[in-house]
Amino acid sequence: MEDKLQQLKQHLMEVEDLERTSNVLAWDQATYMPPGGNAARARQMALMDRLAHEKLTSAPVGKLLDELQPYAESLPYDADDASLIRLARRHFERAIKVPAAFIARQAEHHAMLYDLWARARPANDFAAVQPHLQTSLDLSRQYADYFPGYAHIADPLIDRNDEGMRTETVRAIFADLRAALMPLVQAIQAKGPVETRFLRQHYPEAVQWQFGRAVIEYYGYDFARGRQDKTHHPFMIKFSGDDVRITTRFDEHDLGDGLFSTLHEAGHALYEQNMPPHFEGLPLNTGTSAGIHESQSRLWENIVGRSRGFWDFFYPNLQAYFPDQLNGVPMEAFYAAINEVKPSLIRVDADEVTYNLHVMLRFDLELQLLEGTLEIKDLPEAWNARYESDLGVTPPDDRDGVLQDVHWYTETVGGNFQGYTLGNLFSAQFYEAALATYPEIPGEIAVGKFGLLRYWLTNNIYRHGSKFTADELVQRVTGGPLRVAPLVNYLREKYSALYDLDLN
Ligand code: ZN
Repeated sequence: MEDKLQQLKQHLMEVEDLERTSNVLAWDQATYMPPGGNAARARQMALMDRLAHEKLTSAPVGKLLDELQPYAESLPYDADDASLIRLARRHFERAIKVPAAFIARQAEHHAMLYDLWARARPANDFAAVQPHLQTSLDLSRQYADYFPGYAHIADPLIDRNDEGMRTETVRAIFADLRAALMPLVQAIQAKGPVETRFLRQHYPEAVQWQFGRAVIEYYGYDFARGRQDKTHHPFMIKFSGDDVRITTRFDEHDLGDGLFSTLHEAGHALYEQNMPPHFEGLPLNTGTSAGIHESQSRLWENIVGRSRGFWDFFYPNLQAYFPDQLNGVPMEAFYAAINEVKPSLIRVDADEVTYNLHVMLRFDLELQLLEGTLEIKDLPEAWNARYESDLGVTPPDDRDGVLQDVHWYTETVGGNFQGYTLGNLFSAQFYEAALATYPEIPGEIAVGKFGLLRYWLTNNIYRHGSKFTADELVQRVTGGPLRVAPLVNYLREKYSALYDLDLN
């Protein structure tokens, strides 16, 4: 049995290495590759994806999984080997339904479209991507059709990123959350504007970079096993447990943009840098779902990084980096400004309260596209209409409208947005559980100590890698299923204090 287990691990490690190699190509494409490299790069990435897919779906893997099943069943559910075999079976069962040629075609299409989008967005040119976005939608539908028997066409697409989640479940959760958020948004809007102009003075990029780097070193991001570069759209990417990279973008006239995206990506990276070394090379060695991953980034970006205690510690430090810009700005004013709630156009810059409204409208539009009740040619108009009805703002152009997020231009249409709001919900529920065990965490944060929170996260979340699904993990860690209340309570409490609201 030991022999067969080693053979399976060998296969899985090769799949994993092919995927990580593809990641290196993608990272280079987004950071340093000259534009001329794109055609060859698209082909090379498609080859890597096809090889990984072929390797995973090869006959020996299916046979080994069958032979190892009794061994897996003889072990405790959370044993490393049992978890590996269970996870590998799920990956295998999903992959064999989709032909390798389709995987390659889709990967090449996405790489090509990413390049077009990177030029179309600054040029405000939706027409340049429109026919190719149609192809993405067609391919997304075709992907779903490899999984007959779904209740909704988006289900197989959602399942790829948030395993086990269904369209109907997400819809119900989003409806509950929306009902709780709307009165809060309205109550805050009735309070009038917050002074934020000082955040939009000139903040030299090099100094922003130094400050962000200092903060994430406090968080525990390990630069000996990572690095930080610049991109249009910030992301975290993993090549191995000892090489987890982040990217950031800076705006010299918006202090929050670079800082909070750095904290966000560092949150993803902390998850990936803190898995057990013996998971290295195996599919267990990664975060378990898009939603759980996002819970980690949002926790470090918002629950920690926009908290009062965090700034009690870091604000004097930030003032020392930017004395001309901030020495005349009191801590209270700064804290209020970085937590300003204001309906806006750009999801990644949105405040914690309105952020989820951005996600919900994307999710709805995706469903309509997949259902065939909305056509690609009408998407910009539908996008703008939803911004007006949901957020009360009108995008002046497609650059800050339908072209703003990279997702539809480099991934499937469907399945790529729900994780953001699920992540916010998970983050609040996890933090509530962490505080129940260690009520002293906020006090530690206020003196610049993050070890206790990181310890709790490592122990409860990071160290499991992909052993458990999101549902299993939230049940294990918090004693129940995903709930809307922890996020709603967190937001109501924080923003009642900030805006002096009387919500009851
Ligand atoms: Zn993220």
